[in-house]
Amino acid sequence: MKTNEIMSRLQVKYPGEKEYLQAVQEVLESIEEVYNRHPEFEAAKIVERIVEPDRIFTFRVTWIDDRGEVQTNTGYRVQFNSAIGPYKGGLRFHRAVTPSMLKFLGFEQTFKNALTTLPMGGAKGGSDFNPVGKSDAEIMRFCQAFMWELWQCIGPDQDIPAGDVGVGSREIGYLYGMYKKLAREYNTGVLTGKGSTWGGSILRPEATGFGALYFTQHLLDKAGKTLVGKKIAISGFGNVAWGAATKATQLGAKVIAISGPDGVCHIPDGITPEMIAYMLEMRASNSDRVADMATRFPDKAQFTPGKKAWSIPCDIALPCAFQNELSEEDAVELKKNGCWCCCEVSNMGCQPGAIHYFQHNGVLFAPGKAVNAGGVATSGLEMTQNASHISWSAEEVDSKLHYIMKSIHEQCVRFGTQPDGTVDYVKGANIAGFMKVAQAMLEQGIV
Ligand code: GLU
Repeated sequence: MKTNEIMSRLQVKYPGEKEYLQAVQEVLESIEEVYNRHPEFEAAKIVERIVEPDRIFTFRVTWIDDRGEVQTNTGYRVQFNSAIGPYKGGLRFHRAVTPSMLKFLGFEQTFKNALTTLPMGGAKGGSDFNPVGKSDAEIMRFCQAFMWELWQCIGPDQDIPAGDVGVGSREIGYLYGMYKKLAREYNTGVLTGKGSTWGGSILRPEATGFGALYFTQHLLDKAGKTLVGKKIAISGFGNVAWGAATKATQLGAKVIAISGPDGVCHIPDGITPEMIAYMLEMRASNSDRVADMATRFPDKAQFTPGKKAWSIPCDIALPCAFQNELSEEDAVELKKNGCWCCCEVSNMGCQPGAIHYFQHNGVLFAPGKAVNAGGVATSGLEMTQNASHISWSAEEVDSKLHYIMKSIHEQCVRFGTQPDGTVDYVKGANIAGFMKVAQAMLEQGIV
């Protein structure tokens, strides 16, 4: 296969699907060499098949807001690939959601899930519904209306959604409440990220951030470094940023910045447990404003409007917000200010130019599909607990999560070690994920 030829075909077929084309290009560039050593992949046209979702459901979601006005949004579920297990992946509620965004996320999810060592296929879904400024009652009515359509596409052995940007345990609760009514089925395994008293796994809320820090620890260890005393800049203040800030602080690092769409909060002495707890309140308020942290803790945090977390000098950058949030310009500024490591926690958080700059300027870099896989891995652990009607302790879940992140790091090293001994984590993660899915597709024939 030739990446350029496949990309030209996809560009003609899916013009304007920017994020999807970007995600496919990154994976194909990494795997081309290995793929071409396997004529059996070429014969079964694995690449042509793996870049296309199995199916996409699109539906209208109509609901009534607090003023009594009728609102209409669009809902989607992209079932991308089921070669290694049932479809699995989150739901994103954000005003910018498009089919391209969900296709990129479903594609990434397929390889990420393969890396977790658990049997899960890839999927993603969501809506262009904007949760910012919505009341709790509006969120509930929207979730119920969304599930009216979604319930027919999902099931505990078929497709298991979870949270993502704009969807946390509150939304999962409303979605599950409606699913039960419609399906008359009481299997909690149909969604993950549930409340801990009704089937949710302990540590699932923390898992993406905790897993990211465990991965970072392994990466630093391999490079002969440690997290202790290091200054960390984090973008975002949602669920993922919260988990990352919690674990980074526990492991002895200092989180000196968090950010939002309105600007950045500089926290020179490092974030405190009270401030970390306040991040949860900020997320629950649906105001999407990080400035509130500086208003609440005026002697600890200084807010600068319009600036990103990447403007604050740090050792390690952890993008935890949204795709393409870190540009090449940001990468240059980070390096200039002393940053030497970037672990991408958001899905495709770094633009291709930023990744290229990091990799060619001595900045350690690891991609989201490896770094953030602890979230979906713990969803997989939640599914296991649901299927066997048991509940594991925090210690059990944490040690399994730790083991999974170690194994993901090992897979990256195995497939990404370069002739000079350094590790290309982008290549490593893409090749490891791809080989597993491709092999399964091959063994299951032309379907
Ligand atoms: N949305 C998360 C991700 O990007 C979690 C998905 C899940 O738990 O199914 O991996």
